[in-house]
Amino acid sequence: MNTYDVVVIGAGVIGSSVAFHLAKFGAKNVLVLDRDTIGAGTTSQSSGILRTHYSVKENVELARHSWQIFNNFAEYLGDDEASCGMVKCGYMIVAPEGDKLEPLRASLNQQREQGIALETLSQAQARELLPIAQFDDAALIGYEPEAGFADAYLVATSFARAARRSGVTVRENAQVNRVLIENGKVVGVSTSIGDFKTSMVISAQNIWTPELAGWTGRELPVTPERHAVLALECDAAKYTFSMPVFKDLASPGMLYCRSYGGSQMLVSEGVVGESLAAAQVEQGDIPMDYVVEVGAQVAERFPAYEASGIASSWTGVYDVTPDWNPVLGKLPGIEGLVVGYGFSGHGFKLSPTVGRILAQEALGMPTDVSLAPYSIERFHTGRLLTGKYGLGAVS
Ligand SMILES: Cc1cc2nc3c(=O)[nH]c(=O)nc-3n(C[C@H](O)[C@H](O)[C@H](O)COP(=O)(O)OP(=O)(O)OC[C@H]3O[C@@H](n4cnc5c(N)ncnc54)[C@H](O)[C@@H]3O)c2cc1C
Repeated sequence: MNTYDVVVIGAGVIGSSVAFHLAKFGAKNVLVLDRDTIGAGTTSQSSGILRTHYSVKENVELARHSWQIFNNFAEYLGDDEASCGMVKCGYMIVAPEGDKLEPLRASLNQQREQGIALETLSQAQARELLPIAQFDDAALIGYEPEAGFADAYLVATSFARAARRSGVTVRENAQVNRVLIENGKVVGVSTSIGDFKTSMVISAQNIWTPELAGWTGRELPVTPERHAVLALECDAAKYTFSMPVFKDLASPGMLYCRSYGGSQMLVSEGVVGESLAAAQVEQGDIPMDYVVEVGAQVAERFPAYEASGIASSWTGVYDVTPDWNPVLGKLPGIEGLVVGYGFSGHGFKLSPTVGRILAQEALGMPTDVSLAPYSIERFHTGRLLTGKYGLGAVS
């Protein structure tokens, strides 16, 4: 039976980042296993938005560190050909008078205290940056110039490629059937390609984390939740790459929008989605009622989109925890088991730093950012990381 120093379960953007960072910190004998292919899970369904705007200050810290890596991606990976596909177009967030106004003000102030470069814009300034939108109801407009979007699949495959170049073994089409635990210590994994000895497992299984709960007998709360994404085409109002990502706290669905392909609009709701009975990433139906409802919200903000059509659409699944924030770190009571799951629709922008700190934790190093707030224990102690905007992917 082969022995590995660390085994990583899952090669999405999180597992691939973990694997790269394990090698970066000197781990020599690392195995990554994915039952599918690299990035083929929920990572390939991502909208890819990168921002540091969060109402939970711990998340700002993770996003800020991650942005520095995205901004310098090829050099950080030591791979001239690596790209994260970044479009640095900025991020604009708008609140009208009402219950979202003070949460937005407080979040922007918090971000400034954390050293994030931010501007508050007048309606006229906002119109200049995003001329296809109207801002008559906007009471507060935040703008983060150093933000934008990137390609999550490209990031996962780039991390995995860089990990492989540093000696990590990545096996696709290899399913983990069980983590082997003896006397409270991890001793190996049993998989579809054989059993392997290891004293350290990092699970990056996302919506499939209930499998780990079954193997360990631990409660690991997570709900698979399906969300729909639409790409709209409007001849009269193209959403170009130079226009910022837009978050509309005035809309009932707390819409987010961005350029798609340099002319279309990618749009989705930022609220609770459809709970699924089991983990699965197959495409779901997008009811016409939903399309009409989102279309009406889009037209409120982007009047020319009244006459838009759907160019394409897809569904994706979030791994939602009770407070819409991830669980990161060791599972208490089991030696040699680290988890990173529950990203609740906002894990891509955190992935570089999450991979870094999970690798540091597994290797017994100090972590760049504290894992303590993200401990599974918070669901028992009540120290939840619930965001100021309520439940939803802004967090
Ligand atoms: C529609 C949508 C839009 C999003 N938009 C954004 C956004 O704009 N910005 C942002 O920051 N985030 C966004 N996200 C969230 C982000 O994409 C995810 O948080 C991130 O991609 C999750 O990566 P992951 O590695 O945890 O999961 P996954 O990519 O799902 O990877 C998990 C992997 O584990 C493997 N696996 C599981 N169990 C086993 C097993 N037993 N054996 C072997 N392999 C196993 C699976 O095959 C899978 O490949 C969005 C997500 C969706 C669905």
